[in-house]
Amino acid sequence: MGHYDLIIVGAGPAGSTLADALKNTGKRVLIIDKQAFPRDKTCAGWVTPAVIKTLKIDLADYQSGRTLQPIRRFRISMMGQAAVENDHADIVSYGIRRCEFDDYLLSRVHCPKQLATPVKSIVRKDGNWLINDTWAAPLIVGAGGHFCPVAQLLGDGPGGHETIVAAKEVEFEMTAQQASACQARGDTPELWFCRDLKGYAWVFRKGNYLNIGLGREDNHKLTGHLEAFVEDMKASGRIPEDLPGRFKGHAYLLYAHAQRPLVDDGILLVGDSAGLAYTQSGEGIRPAIESALMAADVLRQTPDYSASSLQAYGDAIAERFGTRSVARHEGLQLPDWLKVPLASTLMRSHWFTRKVVTEKWFLHKDVAPLQVAV
Ligand SMILES: Cc1cc2nc3c(=O)[nH]c(=O)nc-3n(C[C@H](O)[C@H](O)[C@H](O)COP(=O)(O)OP(=O)(O)OC[C@H]3O[C@@H](n4cnc5c(N)ncnc54)[C@H](O)[C@@H]3O)c2cc1C
Repeated sequence: MGHYDLIIVGAGPAGSTLADALKNTGKRVLIIDKQAFPRDKTCAGWVTPAVIKTLKIDLADYQSGRTLQPIRRFRISMMGQAAVENDHADIVSYGIRRCEFDDYLLSRVHCPKQLATPVKSIVRKDGNWLINDTWAAPLIVGAGGHFCPVAQLLGDGPGGHETIVAAKEVEFEMTAQQASACQARGDTPELWFCRDLKGYAWVFRKGNYLNIGLGREDNHKLTGHLEAFVEDMKASGRIPEDLPGRFKGHAYLLYAHAQRPLVDDGILLVGDSAGLAYTQSGEGIRPAIESALMAADVLRQTPDYSASSLQAYGDAIAERFGTRSVARHEGLQLPDWLKVPLASTLMRSHWFTRKVVTEKWFLHKDVAPLQVAV
């Protein structure tokens, strides 16, 4: 039996950030993931500069042997109407490949790692959590993404009662022929909003890789929406005709619509396991790493792992991202019959697509990178 102070379940951005932030604290940490790394994660692979800054990623080091696509422009529209392109002049964001990015973050973690090991059982025994009958700790951190087994121990757990974003994506390396046929440009990701405003699709070229996907909070007929979008993009030459492979699906929660409790006695959730992705954009990597750093901050100071002590983490999340009930009612509340035509008009405006869609909703330019002492 291996004994630790805490066990982190999941070695994605949330788990690896937490493990790294707890180095030099004297805590014995074990990180477990069901997959061997490098592993892929269904994702568009777009990260904001705040993520690079907060994680102190040396871009020169990162891009040696990895894909790093600087973004300077955005192409935005509602499906079925002409796109608006805005030039931000400077680099405003980056495209990465998750198989590389997550592996890079995990390579910086030096605590014991148990990879290719699915967590199958979590049992409470004598004040400890016993995982797979093999490892024990008084605290387990759920960093296992949307279907995290640790999240199942809290409240109603993941399930049909939740309003999820269902998304599908494909990422592949283009052949020379596909690359020359593809009109999408690397420094200009394309965002195409569904006409009912329930989601959006993207075409995101990163060097020679192309990532295409669509996510909706109403997952009814997701495949149909995706197929129609892909056909449209092919017909207009934005993407090559011959897409290889199949689209992979995944689910996650938007912060304002999630209801998962964040802590309980000896349990704490970070990242997608906690349901923290930004409500307007679905960006989840930044909230995942910020939540991990806030958790580390609390774990460094807390006298014990009781729910009441860990609530300091819940409070920090509410302070950073707003309380969920307030976030749910943020923004202009308009009836649908007015929302849709209004959005169609606004999506033709350079000012709106630049200032509101890109800078506010997608880049969070008004939210400074998280400052926590590490
Ligand atoms: C299609 C799609 C596109 C997206 N695009 C973007 C984007 O462009 N930018 C962005 O910021 N966000 C994006 N997101 C959201 C983003 O991918 C997530 O918010 C982010 O990955 C959350 O990180 P995490 O570490 O919490 O979880 P994850 O990255 O999901 O990592 C969880 C880890 O836990 C492991 N795990 C799961 N179950 C177990 C188990 N039983 N035992 C052991 N290990 C387990 C998994 O193997 C995985 O490695 C997208 C999401 C989807 C679905």
